[in-house]
Amino acid sequence: MSLTDRGFPLFLTFDLDAETMWTARDPNYAKRPILMSQGAYGWKVGVWRVMELLRRYEVRATFFIPGIIVEQRPQVVEALLKDGHEIAHHSHTHAWIVNLTPEQEREEMQKGFDAIKRATGQAPRGYRSPAAEFSPISLGLMKEYGFDYSSNFFDDDSPYLLEIDGETTDIVELPFRWVLDDAPFFQYSIVLPGRTMHPPSSVLESWKTEFDVLYHEDRMMMVGMHPEIIGQPSRLVVLEGLIKHARDHANVWMGRCDEMSDQIRPRLKAPR
Ligand SMILES: [Zn+2]
Repeated sequence: MSLTDRGFPLFLTFDLDAETMWTARDPNYAKRPILMSQGAYGWKVGVWRVMELLRRYEVRATFFIPGIIVEQRPQVVEALLKDGHEIAHHSHTHAWIVNLTPEQEREEMQKGFDAIKRATGQAPRGYRSPAAEFSPISLGLMKEYGFDYSSNFFDDDSPYLLEIDGETTDIVELPFRWVLDDAPFFQYSIVLPGRTMHPPSSVLESWKTEFDVLYHEDRMMMVGMHPEIIGQPSRLVVLEGLIKHARDHANVWMGRCDEMSDQIRPRLKAPR
């Protein structure tokens, strides 16, 4: 049995971290306007270019956005909603969970939740933590806030139901891996020593190969990108190349995480 009615699920997701990509590393970076402008590229240019591409291929996607970016950029939120994209929870300030007290982590959860609810009229249905880290209380918070899906763990190539406190929940985990993220390949900055830029062709090769194997094994593919990174001209070609490659295959569904996880959930719950 396939995971969805429409076949193999290919999730194209975008974390619009914008300036929080830098301030989460060090709040003092807010005083460095050129560094901050590398984040601003996400909402000023990158996200619009990504939206235009998705419109051209009639793909609806999920954007994980920190609450303060949701609040600061209502024009972006409005355009995303108009095109039918989903806005999901990505903390409030992108503060790295490993550096927070439990109280601070709860505040990040609450404020990010409220910001999305205010801006979209609906509670966010999915959660992705900033910088791929959880604390011992994160899973419990996800359950408490009623999320329907999570895209956080790196331990599988197929979706599964999250187990929290020894109990299997209805929260669908949509796992990913660093090789399916644009940042390790492309993110370059003076403040990130050791990072080098990879040619777009090598990233497209990696993602097409990932697709071929995952498709053949009837699993899923979760790609996590950042508009400030993938939205640059030479990088957007990689995303377009992946979409074209996927469209050359029968029964591939590129869609929103909420809609796809709603189809996957009952199939994970069904006895085998
Ligand atoms: Zn992020």
